[in-house]
Amino acid sequence: MERLLVRGACPHDCPDTCGLVTEVQDGEAVSIRGDPANPVTGGWLCAKVRPYLHHVYHPDRLLYPLRRVGPKGSGQWQRIGWEEAIAEIAARWKAIIAESGPEAILPYFYSGTLGLVQMTVSSARLWNRLGTSRMERTICCAAAFMAIRATLGQCWSPPYSDVVHSKLVLIWGHNPVSTAPHFMPFLRQAQHAGCHVVVIDPHRTPTAAGADWHLAPRPGTDGALAMGLAHVLVAEGMHEPTWLEEHTVGWPLLRERLADYPPQR
Ligand code: SF4
Repeated sequence: MERLLVRGACPHDCPDTCGLVTEVQDGEAVSIRGDPANPVTGGWLCAKVRPYLHHVYHPDRLLYPLRRVGPKGSGQWQRIGWEEAIAEIAARWKAIIAESGPEAILPYFYSGTLGLVQMTVSSARLWNRLGTSRMERTICCAAAFMAIRATLGQCWSPPYSDVVHSKLVLIWGHNPVSTAPHFMPFLRQAQHAGCHVVVIDPHRTPTAAGADWHLAPRPGTDGALAMGLAHVLVAEGMHEPTWLEEHTVGWPLLRERLADYPPQR
């Protein structure tokens, strides 16, 4: 019996970027676990990816192209070959482009388990070459990316392990217990060392439940909360005016507006 351990990376769009170790016996994956050599993964995987082999070998998994041959919803499908499927899709796209132009095609997808190559490199080249419509595929990420790029220049974040040096952690509208679980051991380590963790979230998420202070503003009011916090920072001189003048955009306008947001408002 041939037994192999294959090292890989989780394909999900997830900040933890876990390392995987898959055990393969005679060409079949028989187990999957977190890579113990990866300092963030630490040998364990989230609940979503732990049963990955169940998905891979599930009898309902789509393994080849199917053409619908009955009414929508009737579940009537006919297996066709890859060349036939690609030719049919290409013929339909060409007809749409000939009739209405390439922008009549709207690619609609997000990340799932595509990984960076399929999600942002190869697919982008296809859509650019065709000249299809473009879409900001997620309103939350698009707004956040714009703000982060405008503020920091790049979408970079420090390594998870840096949090153990923090004295105060403010988690705002984020639930890493569910969406970045490998951050949590580092955060707990910081808490045990005396770090104060504040979670701002209208919902009592598992992350909020483990915080030292959970602040639950009414939905839609966290903009006012941010302005109130900034008001106090400026009023009590806890900001650096020179740095703000040299490295930010719109600081004088913001300073004027902050005057309207005292905490008692
Ligand atoms: S936490 Fe889960 S989804 Fe995220 S990288 Fe790790 S295994 Fe993948």
